[in-house]
Amino acid sequence: MLKEFKDFIKKGNVIDLAIAVIMAGAFGEIVGKLVDGILMPIIGAITAGIDFAAIKLNVLGVDLLVGEFLNSVIKFVIIAFVMFLIVKAFNKMKKEEVAEVTTKECPHCKSEVHKDATRCPHCTSEL
Ligand SMILES: [Zn+2]
Repeated sequence: MLKEFKDFIKKGNVIDLAIAVIMAGAFGEIVGKLVDGILMPIIGAITAGIDFAAIKLNVLGVDLLVGEFLNSVIKFVIIAFVMFLIVKAFNKMKKEEVAEVTTKECPHCKSEVHKDATRCPHCTSEL
């Protein structure tokens, strides 16, 4: 089992994962501050001074912290949206990398030609 654990650490994925977890934690805090400190006061101002975090629902003599729950939902939506943007940008970057590998530039006419081409289809020069 110790050997398995060593192999697991050696693969390097552990470091990536650790960095991702730490980044996610820090990022979550940033979004939390953004929602609590900037977004919710703005929404509060728009809705005539309603403090979302202070909204409580008294049911059967028990305070339900509806406002804090709403804050958490809004934070989750923002994090999910930002993650979506990051993944989208990352996928686009990956696609461009793949596209770059399949073509090269003709040194004579500067057209884009297939990387394995021996003759340019645009200016017919040998490559
Ligand atoms: Zn050419």
